[in-house]
Amino acid sequence: MAIDHPHRRTRLSALLLVALWSLAESKYIAYNTTQRIVADKLNVHIVAHTHDDVGWLKTVDQYYVGSNNSIQGACVQNVLDSIIPALLADKNRRFIYVEQAFFQRWWRQQSDEIKSTVKELLSSGQLEFINGGMCMHDEAAVHYIDMIDQTTLGHRFIKQEFGIIPRIGWQIDPFGHSAVQAYLLSAEVGFDALYFFRIDYQDLAKRKDLKSLEVIWRASKSRGLSADVFTGIFPKNYEPPPGGFYFEVNDDSPVIQDDPLLFDYNVQERVDDFVAAALSQANITRANHIMFTMGTDFKYQYANSWFRQLDKFIHYVNKDGRVNALYSTPSIYTDAKYALEESWPLKTGDFFPYADNPNAYWTGYFTSRPAIKGYVRMMSAYYLAARQLEFFTERNSSGYTTDSLADALAIAQHHDAVTGTEKQHVANDYAKRLSIGYSEAEKLVGASLACLTEPISSPGCYNTTTKFEQCPLLNISYCPPSEVDLSLGKKMIVLVYNSLGWKRNDIIRIPVISESIVHDSDGNEIESQLLPLADATINLRSHHVKAYLGISPSITPKFWLIFAVSVPPLGFNTYFVSSTKGKVAGSVASVSTFYSSEESKSSNIEVGKGKLKLLYNVKDGTLTHYLNSRSLVKASMEQTYSYYAGDSGSGNDPQASGAYIFRPNGTFPIKPEKKTPTTIVRGSILDEVHQQINPWIYQVSRVYKDKEHAEVEFTVGPIPVDDEIGKEIVTKITTGMATNKTFYTDSNGRDFIKRVRDYRSDLELQVNQPVAGNYYPINLGIYMQDDSTEFSVLVDRSVGGSSILDGQIELMLHRRLLYDDGRGVGEALNETVCVNGECAGLTVQGKFYVKIDPLGEGSRWRRTFGQEIYSPLLVAFSIEDGGNWTGSHTANFSAMDPSYSLPDNVALITLQELEDGNVLLRLAHLYEVGEHKDLSAMAYVELKKMFPVRKIGNIIEMNLSANQEKTAMEKKRLKWKTEGSSGVETIARGAPVDPSELVVELAPMEVRTFLIKFDYISFAKIGDR
Ligand SMILES: [Zn+2]
Repeated sequence: MAIDHPHRRTRLSALLLVALWSLAESKYIAYNTTQRIVADKLNVHIVAHTHDDVGWLKTVDQYYVGSNNSIQGACVQNVLDSIIPALLADKNRRFIYVEQAFFQRWWRQQSDEIKSTVKELLSSGQLEFINGGMCMHDEAAVHYIDMIDQTTLGHRFIKQEFGIIPRIGWQIDPFGHSAVQAYLLSAEVGFDALYFFRIDYQDLAKRKDLKSLEVIWRASKSRGLSADVFTGIFPKNYEPPPGGFYFEVNDDSPVIQDDPLLFDYNVQERVDDFVAAALSQANITRANHIMFTMGTDFKYQYANSWFRQLDKFIHYVNKDGRVNALYSTPSIYTDAKYALEESWPLKTGDFFPYADNPNAYWTGYFTSRPAIKGYVRMMSAYYLAARQLEFFTERNSSGYTTDSLADALAIAQHHDAVTGTEKQHVANDYAKRLSIGYSEAEKLVGASLACLTEPISSPGCYNTTTKFEQCPLLNISYCPPSEVDLSLGKKMIVLVYNSLGWKRNDIIRIPVISESIVHDSDGNEIESQLLPLADATINLRSHHVKAYLGISPSITPKFWLIFAVSVPPLGFNTYFVSSTKGKVAGSVASVSTFYSSEESKSSNIEVGKGKLKLLYNVKDGTLTHYLNSRSLVKASMEQTYSYYAGDSGSGNDPQASGAYIFRPNGTFPIKPEKKTPTTIVRGSILDEVHQQINPWIYQVSRVYKDKEHAEVEFTVGPIPVDDEIGKEIVTKITTGMATNKTFYTDSNGRDFIKRVRDYRSDLELQVNQPVAGNYYPINLGIYMQDDSTEFSVLVDRSVGGSSILDGQIELMLHRRLLYDDGRGVGEALNETVCVNGECAGLTVQGKFYVKIDPLGEGSRWRRTFGQEIYSPLLVAFSIEDGGNWTGSHTANFSAMDPSYSLPDNVALITLQELEDGNVLLRLAHLYEVGEHKDLSAMAYVELKKMFPVRKIGNIIEMNLSANQEKTAMEKKRLKWKTEGSSGVETIARGAPVDPSELVVELAPMEVRTFLIKFDYISFAKIGDR
């Protein structure tokens, strides 16, 4: 339709007449959208997409049904409903869909007719599933096991329902990108490419200059080339290019007006805009393919509004001919790039931290909502253990399952869920879902344990005789099943289940109401210790029981009963607690004495009965030294609290510190209150140091007789904000180590990545935020080293941390802020807990663990104890009223051969019976290449000994998300060329499993996934053991 005539001026009136006349006859325009890739042109791949957050400003269900629209006009049901006719209207149109949590909600409600249409659209490629997990998980505050689980859940659904295997990773919105996402969650699930956009603004600028937005990301030094992934970074965001290309119903971009009978005809202008946007993006992209991400958050609610315009662009741009526009998908784009056979720049390490402006480091969310982060981690471990128990006693889909916990956990990994960047009501929704999922899994666990304890004479799970209860609120010292009167000969049965693949010695602590002693299942009394409950603990308990259960507990426990347990791998042991009232002395349980350190005369006071000792200054109760008599480590050590004042954004740069962003405005030490003495509690199993740091920080440091690390339990909150200053609370642990700006933090609980303060390997960093810009996510731990020792701190949930000074590690434990940080959530991160209408800031309790080792010895503790932190012992209670429980029940159990345990360098990360009866098994090597002199070697797992009472009929190695066979995945997966790389793999890997030997080999950092079919599964057989 473009007017192009050599004699336009002289014959203008005639032309107008002709034009009007000819157009009046051609009302219908058949837009030509058939265009495919053209080799010698710039190809503009139009990727129509919607980014549907699985909860953010609204809950996942509100987004799905389109309720609560005053907050955000978003209805995913509209998107999915309107996409189908829009795709049917033109078979050249394409659309990608990502978030399976939404898709599954929609799919369950569709008619058979729609379902078969969708299947046709999927098989023709018009509709394509990308990424394919339940959500687009975060990459900083998530643990790798949760990433695997939520991806598996989505991928297996897609495979089962449609026979489809997603090819492309699409992490377009998470706030920084992890090594584990690249080498594990992309390469090992079989993705041919990974796309996203949020990387540091300085890095982005440099990559545009160098045309290195598309790279080969080699994220694991242990897994090498085999885990390379082609990675495309979007140049601006995941939205349409600049120039006005938004076409939701209410968007204000100019639509193509191509009817000359109407005013504002603009075809040529719009074609020019499109070509200009294409050329500008081509300028910073290698090769003649670029991607236009045509969509953004919750778009295509009336899909035709977009497709109408996209059809016209393709039609007119191709008529224009300067560039070639086509309907495409990330898969088509990836194949086009691959077909060029080019070599791409290499990227190692990861993409943390992320900043989008000089004062806007997205490092606050590493800690935001620490209670939810703790809850997610606790549920993750519980899910792992519950699936094991579900497997031992056979999955029963009609009874209790772990399915709803699986679903809740999957959704909680979303990049606005566990991150803490959602609105408060949405955070509550995630917690509610987890709680519902937990209570179903809790019933399953109770039933499974009851079943496994049934005697050999009458095996079976249908008429169990023991009812086990659990204590999910032990974190607030609330455990009704253990707070019982044990007089009159009653005994409390304490069953302790160990989900790890190796034997475990650990310490249990439960609240009890009177002096008690503990016997093992052979009837021998074992060492125990009674600790009076501190006032701070009791206050925390009654306040939160009232807040969350709406009741005031009728009894207050008097003591913590502490005792050492020993539990076989994948198994349990039972212990028996009885009251000592009225009995003669001789019990090893002892009530510890309190005294204030001020009364002591020596200048240092020593805490710890075993090899580890902590020294405290008598005068002010501060920690001064860390000593280990076995390893001969002697180090000065101080621990302090301080807070960063959250910037209010009232200065020149309006950036405030908020849910996403950490922008400190000064740091302020928190001094211990002089009047409160340090209280030291000593016992036979552990010593504790209680310190009221200030009115809203309470700390207990524990040194166990048989452990060589210190455990620190902090209780922080309510953070006062009466001074109208938001505060971000950190603890700093300072040693004299010369660490040369260097420290190490884990990637999603897996590889440790070297961090150098004020430095990035990819660019000359301009340092604007010397604290926030050096923060990294921590899921497992952080450590640093000098020439003789290494100092490690492990955490119980995801937090942010750094080493801002040499020799010092800091962790951010809690944040309470008063301003929104301008990234969309529209709320200040100001969590409160209300009782009877009175609200106070949220109090958070958590733990971290500290150890100093001789250089080269730290990794063993980080890896082994790190697994124990992730998977705490599962404790269940019952009451034995007279009778002889042990005589008629199974008191100890291991699913593995009694002589066997997993090697020290291997963790069992999935053992799950699937709906079809197959069993999903995942094993992970825990060490990196070169991390430990012995344990970084090849590991061997003997499946026959892992499953001694079952016969493995068939075993197939799968990819990580278990939606295809591993060999098939490896054959298919694209192999990219890297600049300056030989392409020769030098990394070891486990050999295929011989079906008669059944030994699984694992090379450093290898995760291997298997589907196993057992010939015969019978609970009765297990009971025989
Ligand atoms: Zn998002």
